[in-house]
Amino acid sequence: MQYPGNLFVVAAPSGAGKSSLVKALMELDTRVAPSISHTTRAPRGQELHGREYYFVSNETFDQMVIQNGFLEWAKVHGNRYGTSKHTIEQRMAQGADVVLEIDFQGAIQVKRIFPNAVLVFILPPSWEELRSRLERRAEDTAEVIEVRIQNASAEMAHAHEFDFVIINELFERALFDLKAIVHAQRLKFAAQRIARSDTFKALNIP
Ligand code: GDP
Ligand code: ADP
Ligand code: 5GP
Repeated sequence: MQYPGNLFVVAAPSGAGKSSLVKALMELDTRVAPSISHTTRAPRGQELHGREYYFVSNETFDQMVIQNGFLEWAKVHGNRYGTSKHTIEQRMAQGADVVLEIDFQGAIQVKRIFPNAVLVFILPPSWEELRSRLERRAEDTAEVIEVRIQNASAEMAHAHEFDFVIINELFERALFDLKAIVHAQRLKFAAQRIARSDTFKALNIP
């Protein structure tokens, strides 16, 4: 499928700061749109249906799988998460740059479907900091935090399959790095030829 915008896929172990970084990026850059996933997980304190996720029952998720409604889906920390085809096609049709915040299994599925997708892996600076961020976020039970820390090693073992790596130590530095990746994609020849077509024509650039 061809589309005018870029597709960015951001993955990280839980607590590395993926959601905070993507949220900050979108506040600074209105040309970046999120793709809101469907999940069978229960909402956390401040989360709203249709904002962070579409929170659905196991039965609804099953139906969407049977009807081939997902571009990709995966089981993560005991719940299922998926990117619906409808959501992503809508976003792409608007010509925006779309960001998927998905796990590594989903990221690899997306790269097969969209080889131009840009895969970004966010790492925490240390195990201690990862744990303390999950605890400070105070949104998950101690059991859920343990599961997420247990799964982090296996997730980080896939970082090498990604195009870019950001270590989220100082938040502002990590945000600068993420913006740089987005910016560089927009400077690619093919993207500039579309974005600046008048200038290209006037300069007779083939
Ligand atoms: P977080 O890890 O603390 O941000 O917790 P979440 O519950 O928001 O996300 C759980 C996992 O599911 C993360 O690894 C996400 O990247 C992943 N995830 C979220 N949405 C999707 C999706 O649409 N597809 C896939 N494959 N993974 C997703
Ligand atoms: P993820 O989406 O990867 O699970 P979050 O964005 O929810 O992670 O971040 C986990 C917690 O760590 C949040 O409480 C967030 O405010 C905090 N956090 C994120 N980045 C940093 C950072 N660079 N330094 C300190 N705390 C951070
Ligand atoms: P959380 O429950 O903390 O919101 O997310 C847990 C993990 O699920 C994160 O790693 C997140 O990226 C991943 N995740 C969220 N949505 C999706 C999705 O649609 N597909 C996949 N594969 N993973 C997702």
